[in-house]
Amino acid sequence: MENILKNFSMDFFRLDGKVAVVTGGNSGIGQGFAAALAKAGADLFITTHSNRNNDGTKQLIEEEGRKVVFCQADLDKREGITKVFDTLMREYGRIDILVNNAGTIKRAPILEYKDEDWVNVIDTNLHSVYYMCHEASKIMVKQGGGKIINIASMLSFQGGKFVPSYTAAKHGVVGITRAFANELACENIQVNAIAPGYVATANTAPIRENKERNNEILSRIPAGKWAEPYDLMGGVIFLASRASDYINGHVMAIDGGWLVR
Ligand code: NAP
Repeated sequence: MENILKNFSMDFFRLDGKVAVVTGGNSGIGQGFAAALAKAGADLFITTHSNRNNDGTKQLIEEEGRKVVFCQADLDKREGITKVFDTLMREYGRIDILVNNAGTIKRAPILEYKDEDWVNVIDTNLHSVYYMCHEASKIMVKQGGGKIINIASMLSFQGGKFVPSYTAAKHGVVGITRAFANELACENIQVNAIAPGYVATANTAPIRENKERNNEILSRIPAGKWAEPYDLMGGVIFLASRASDYINGHVMAIDGGWLVR
């Protein structure tokens, strides 16, 4: 009998020698993604938005023996994306993994929703994902392959309340993921998404502080708790690695069972 394991190795999960870009990788879920990719062996290029101190993230990555470069860029503007790729190519000259994590949310009842909040959230959470995928894909095709992981949401599947622009953008992120996956699978580029459930970060602090809303959410999560950024680490390493080479256009929910409830 042929040993089918001869074509498989646990090293397929390693990312040694890879260059990974994580947008918004200096806080919350993105910081967790960046640290996980470094732990698996990748060097990091992290985009930041505000000029917050990034010593914590730098330390996390350097302790894994990996290199990190930070680039401040406003991803809601097309020039911000140009800046990211100019700096990336100057610093590393390649991109193997792209994690489109940066995002924002603006909450208000739908009848009071402001035009500027609609535009800002769509620019940040949807247009930036398209432009980042587009620029990265052009380089990855020349390199002979790559991995793109877009960060979706439970609101890629549900309507939600008070967040119409976020819901529209996150539905669109799944569309972008499938469109790029379809056209680029033949170029050895795998485009997939992670849809996190409810994760304890700054983004969700206002919900957790609202006792009633917090209890409502907790009672609906089969796992019975909010996720922490480390709950998403295995998923991002898998989708960034050789181990997921036959997965295209998939949206991986990491949600403690929220969607199957
Ligand atoms: P977070 O801590 O607020 O992180 C968001 C990141 O995006 C920050 O690093 C932020 O930078 C950056 N960012 C925001 N606006 C930007 C802009 N205009 N240009 C460039 N960067 C910008 O939130 P998080 O909870 O970790 O969210 C990370 C991703 O996961 C988002 O896409 C979010 O939609 C998604 N998600 C979160 C949850 C959850 O429960 N937390 C659930 C599902 C999906 P600054 O802080 O410097 O502004």
